[in-house]
Amino acid sequence: MIVGVPREIKQDEYRVGMLPVGVEELTRAGHRVLVEAGAGQGSGIPDEQYAIQGAEIVESAEEVYGQAEMIVKVKEPQPEEIALLRPEQIMFTYFHFAADEELTKAVQESRITAVAYETLRGPTGNLPCLTPMSEVAGRMSIQEGAKYLESPQLGRGILLGGVPGVPPAHILILGGGVVGKNAAQIAAGFQADVVIMDVNVDRLRYLEDIMPANVNTLFSDRHNIREQLQLADLVVGAVLIPGARAPMLVTASDLELMKPGSVIIDVCIDQGGCLETSRPTTHSDPTYVVDGIVHYCVTNMPGAVGRTSTYALCNVTFPYAHRIANLGLREACAQDAGLSEAINMHNGHIVNKAVAETFGTEA
Ligand code: NAD
Repeated sequence: MIVGVPREIKQDEYRVGMLPVGVEELTRAGHRVLVEAGAGQGSGIPDEQYAIQGAEIVESAEEVYGQAEMIVKVKEPQPEEIALLRPEQIMFTYFHFAADEELTKAVQESRITAVAYETLRGPTGNLPCLTPMSEVAGRMSIQEGAKYLESPQLGRGILLGGVPGVPPAHILILGGGVVGKNAAQIAAGFQADVVIMDVNVDRLRYLEDIMPANVNTLFSDRHNIREQLQLADLVVGAVLIPGARAPMLVTASDLELMKPGSVIIDVCIDQGGCLETSRPTTHSDPTYVVDGIVHYCVTNMPGAVGRTSTYALCNVTFPYAHRIANLGLREACAQDAGLSEAINMHNGHIVNKAVAETFGTEA
C-alpha cells in the first residue's frame, strides 16, 4: 500500500501522524511511505529521520494526496485538504464529525473512507486513541494553571506547593476520569492540596486507593461544588458524559464565591465546557478574565506539546495503521470489530450509528 503522511495545517497544530519507527515498519513490510517535507518539524522530527527509515520525502500536500491510498494524520481535513481527496482513499485521523456538520458534508461528498480515531474501540470497549490525549491534557492543565496563577498573568500570585510556613494552593478537579486522575497526580507532585469530585462513587473509591495523602475525594453535588469554589485557587474542569454536552457545574453567579485572581482551566471545553462562562480559546490567545477569574479554555491543549503528544498518539494509532496497510481495511476490520467501529464514512454514506443519529440519518 502507498501510505501518505501530510504536514498538519490546522492553526496551532504541531503534531504529526506518524513517527520514523512507523515508516521503518511499513517499508520493511514492503509498503511505500510518502512524508510531506516538514511534516515532523513541529514535533522536533526532521525530514532526514523519516528518510533514513525509507520514507520518500515529497515537497507538497498535492503529491501526498495525489498518490497515497491511505492518509495517516492527526486533525480533521481542512478545506484545502478536502479539495485534494480522492474517492478510493482511506483517511485515518481524528474527525469529530458530530461537532461539525460542514466537515461531515464535505467529507461525504469526497466519498473517501473515513476511519476515525475517536470512535475506534479497544478490546475492553475503551477508546484507546482518545486516552493518551486526555492524559496529556490532564497533566498539562496543572502546568498551565501554575503559570496563570502567577501575578504577571493576572493570577493570584500563588505558588502551587507553597513554602515552609506558607500553605500550598488548593486545587479543585471536577471529574475524576482520565483527565482528572492525571491532573491530580501532577498537582499532588507539586505538593498542592487537591480535591477531586465525581458522581461515580466507585471511581472515587479507586482514586482514594491510589492517590497520595494530599489528594482527597468528594462527591460531586451542587452544595459541595459551591463550598469548594470558595477555597479553590485553581479549578480544573474535567467532566464528561459520553456523546453529550458537558454538564454545567459552575454558573456565572458562582464566580462570586471565588477569590479574585483564581484560575479555571476548563479542559472539557471541547464538549462545551462545565462553566457557564467558558468559551473556546486558542493557544495564541488562551485566556480571558470574567469577574476577576482567569479562564483558560483551549480546545486542543495537546497540540502545544507537540512532541510528547505525537509520540503518545502514534504509540496507539500506529498498530492499527500497520494492520490496515498489511491486511487491507476490509480484512483488518473482519479481524477486529473495534476497528470497524472507527469507520465513520464509506462511499458517501455515514456508517457510524452515533454520527448518523446526530445528523438524523440511518447508518
Ligand atoms: P472520562 O470519561 O475519563 O472522565 C470523565 C469523568 O467525569 C467521569 O469519571 C465521570 O463520572 C465524571 N462526571 C460526569 N458527570 C460529572 C459531574 N456532574 N460531576 C463530576 N464528575 C462528573 O473523560 P476524560 O478522558 O477525562 O475527558 C474529560 C474531558 O476532557 C472530555 O470532554 C474530553 O473530550 C476533554 N479533553 C479535552 C482536551 C482539550 O484539549 N481541551 C484534551 C483531551 C480531553
